[in-house]
Amino acid sequence: MKKILIGTHNSGKFKEIASLLPKKYKKISPKKLNIRSPKETGKSFLSNAKIKVKFFSKFVDYGVISDDSGLCIKALNNRPGIYSARLAKKHGSFLNAMKFILEIIKKKKDRSATFVCSLSYKSEKGVITTVQGVLNGKISNKIKGNKGFGYDPIFIPRGKTITFGQMSRLKKMKMDHRFLAYKKLRKKIKI
Ligand code: IMP
Repeated sequence: MKKILIGTHNSGKFKEIASLLPKKYKKISPKKLNIRSPKETGKSFLSNAKIKVKFFSKFVDYGVISDDSGLCIKALNNRPGIYSARLAKKHGSFLNAMKFILEIIKKKKDRSATFVCSLSYKSEKGVITTVQGVLNGKISNKIKGNKGFGYDPIFIPRGKTITFGQMSRLKKMKMDHRFLAYKKLRKKIKI
């Protein structure tokens, strides 16, 4: 069976990317191979996704896929953006980070936000392809739902009335920023 390394230590992302990939692959995690994560020194989602895929591919001789993603809130000048995971770390948990966000945008009229995902794939031949998926939506007034991961309970995708935290994993996975990026990747290359 062909192998692919899904370069992330985030179990929510791992599950989503694994379900998007063809069944022919045995999906390997860095945790299983005892590989840590690289430092995210890039200034954009695209550069961080490339940093990750290049780093993880040093350890294996098969294909690697990595993403860099985050929540961009218009009223916060598109923050936390690439610092989404770091914001949660700073506040001790995603719950605290979500409470913090809701508090600082409490009085803002514009609650629009986007979830962004840069997805980078490095083939076993060493060719890197990177794409980006963007999903528009808004920040809810309260933390709602306990499904998904990260900031899912405060993000309402455009056209919907519930947060990702209230949506089934299958439904979320078929419309989110990771899915949109994956669709773009599949248009460019055959995985
Ligand atoms: P990084 O790509 O490892 O820097 O982490 C991205 C962070 O963005 C995650 O830890 C989550 O906080 C957030 N994030 C990215 N995608 C999602 C998603 O689909 N749902 C909820 N939070 C997400």
